[in-house]
Amino acid sequence: MICARCGEEIPQGEEMNHMGQSLCEDCYIEAIEPPRTCDVTAVYSAKLARKLAGHEGTDGLTELQKEIYDYVKLNGKVTPENIAKKFQLPKWQLDKQFATLRHCELLRGTKIDGIVYILVMEGGPGSLDI
Ligand SMILES: [Zn+2]
Repeated sequence: MICARCGEEIPQGEEMNHMGQSLCEDCYIEAIEPPRTCDVTAVYSAKLARKLAGHEGTDGLTELQKEIYDYVKLNGKVTPENIAKKFQLPKWQLDKQFATLRHCELLRGTKIDGIVYILVMEGGPGSLDI
C-alpha cells in the first residue's frame, strides 16, 4: 500500500483511512491536525516585526515566553507535557506560546522515536536574516 499523500510505502496493517484515502501514520496525523505552527508568512512577519522594533533574541517576548525559552535552553530537550506541567499551562495556552516562540525562530519542535520534543532552534536567537 502506498500513502496517497507522501507516496511512501506504508507497512502492512499501518495504513490509516482519511476521507477515502489511504495514508501513512505521519500523514494521517497531519491531515487530522494541520501544523499551524509552521506558517511561512507568520514566520516572516514575526521576524520582520521584531526587526523593525529593534528586537533581538528574546527581547519583545512576554515574561512567560522568556521563561519557557530559558527553561528549554537550560534543559536542552523537553516534551510539551513537561513544559505544561512546569508552567501549569493548559495545552491550548502552551500551543499559543510555542507558536510565538516558533515564529520568532527561538524554539522548534522535533520528533525522536515517536515522541515530540521542544528544542532551542540552532542559529537563534537573534539570527534575523531577512
Ligand atoms: Zn504519508
